[in-house]
Amino acid sequence: MNPRRRFIALTPWWALGSTAVLLAACSERTPVPAPLPAPMPAPAPSPAEPAATSASGPSPAALGPLSPAEPQAVALGYVALASQVDAARYPNHTAAQQCAGCSLYSGAAGSAAGPCSIFGGREVAAAGWCSAWVKKA
Ligand code: SF4
Repeated sequence: MNPRRRFIALTPWWALGSTAVLLAACSERTPVPAPLPAPMPAPAPSPAEPAATSASGPSPAALGPLSPAEPQAVALGYVALASQVDAARYPNHTAAQQCAGCSLYSGAAGSAAGPCSIFGGREVAAAGWCSAWVKKA
């Protein structure tokens, strides 16, 4: 029995995996792969780039308050004043339904506006409303 086979025979089964790797790395027939080149350093942000932007786009604060004219706002019937809800389009809306009482609103109590999670954290009016309104628990 040659020394390599004897070594394998004496090595516990649970150590064979790492042993096989070592033997393969030391074998004359197995070329050792060349080391990978060092990773390129990430480019430094340009000084002209706005600080509020990231890889996923501008932050909600950078976008400013949600406008009722924006496409997603129009799609959900958002209005900055709940009294202006289109009653014909949203007959189930009641005067008590406002953003401040919505579970998706995270503005501070008493504030005029705050972030809304359905609009990606954009600021909505506390007195506003949209069709995604869900009563705060
Ligand atoms: S989801 Fe709630 S907080 Fe957001 S705009 Fe609609 S009603 Fe207001």
